[in-house]
Amino acid sequence: MKGVAILGSTGSIGTTALRVIARQRGRFHVVALTAFSNAALLASQAAEGKPSFVGIVNPNGGAPPATWRVGTESLVEAAVRDDVDIVLNAIVGAAGLDATLAALRAGKRVALANKETLVVAGELVQDACAAGGGEIVPVDSEHSAILQCLGSRRHEDVRRLIITGSGGPFRTWSPGAIADAKLDEALRHPTWSMGRKITVDSATLANKALEVIEAHFLFGIPYDRIEVVVHPQSVVHSMVEFVDGSVLAQLGVPSMELPVLYALTHPERVADDGVPRFDPVAASPLTFEAVRLDAFPALRLGLEAARAGGAAPAVFNAANEAAVALFLDGRLQFAGIADGIAEALSRLGAMSGKDKVSLLAADAAARALIAKRAEAA
Ligand code: NAD
Ligand code: MG
Repeated sequence: MKGVAILGSTGSIGTTALRVIARQRGRFHVVALTAFSNAALLASQAAEGKPSFVGIVNPNGGAPPATWRVGTESLVEAAVRDDVDIVLNAIVGAAGLDATLAALRAGKRVALANKETLVVAGELVQDACAAGGGEIVPVDSEHSAILQCLGSRRHEDVRRLIITGSGGPFRTWSPGAIADAKLDEALRHPTWSMGRKITVDSATLANKALEVIEAHFLFGIPYDRIEVVVHPQSVVHSMVEFVDGSVLAQLGVPSMELPVLYALTHPERVADDGVPRFDPVAASPLTFEAVRLDAFPALRLGLEAARAGGAAPAVFNAANEAAVALFLDGRLQFAGIADGIAEALSRLGAMSGKDKVSLLAADAAARALIAKRAEAA
């Protein structure tokens, strides 16, 4: 039986993971749960799963049970426990970085939903894997698809990764209409039901830039061999082209049950009634379109930051996180997200240093710049 720590258990991926693990009793059991502030839901999850560790970052003035750990340190504490074999990192944002690094250094498997970790500090994550013997298995559906297509094939056999994306709610909108998009429109994702931050990222297409960077660090493929294609039905989860021209794809209905399950069981496959079955006729037709970089500047900026390297991806990520939080609060227009990222990258994108202190300084500077723009507006 493998012990699983779920960081961010109250969120969209966290609750999916609890359902998956409940169906796989005997194979996995939950030994640690953490959440940001939803103490009531966390308490009911803890009562059900009886984990040996519960952590909450901010109890919001409430008094959590005396056995719970309180504060940001609870994330790392949960991640390195002896009874934990797999850390499912389902936190949103750069806040998940320390727990990922600590888990990898402690030799754990990290089932990684928290893609921002790899965007902020991809090289540090690779170093932590090498130092501690830990491994990352992606939860993101595109990367789970790529992992499954790669199988045990040699790295040299890969010509190209093709990452699919639904195109989001504004796929067919004009650039002018997109710039004026409202919060409720941005939160109406056509194919996936997810947390609010990634749903907005999927409307700006910043999410695809985060995913290109994530793929680069997970699979060691250079950026000029990673492409994005729009696929409105979200059935083909991504593709790998090999040197002989053969293209393998992984298909399924848009549901995170399988990617979460596979991140726990990889490289094995296990039966699970909760994973929706695929019907090719019902899923038809499947279509593909070129991505419109002119209409989605956040994606273009993210791809530029990826190629620039250094601290630029961390700046891109932090500016995006801060701007999306303002948009979700009703304090920023939709177009302001990409405008803020553009200014952050032009002022801070060349900040140097690859160590954690430098990357966190770039992160903090980008957040401060976005906050200042909001005050000035
Ligand atoms: P969510 O907002 O639904 O849940 C986030 C969870 O993390 C909650 O439990 C929350 O309490 C916790 N959390 C938030 N901020 C925190 C902080 N600063 N410190 C500690 N805990 C914190 O988000 P989600 O949709 O489940 O996404 C989680 C991650 O998975 C993101 O990185 C997202 O990009 C990625 N992801 C999500 C999906 C999806 O279908 N939802 C798909 C692919 C990847
Ligand atoms: Mg994805």
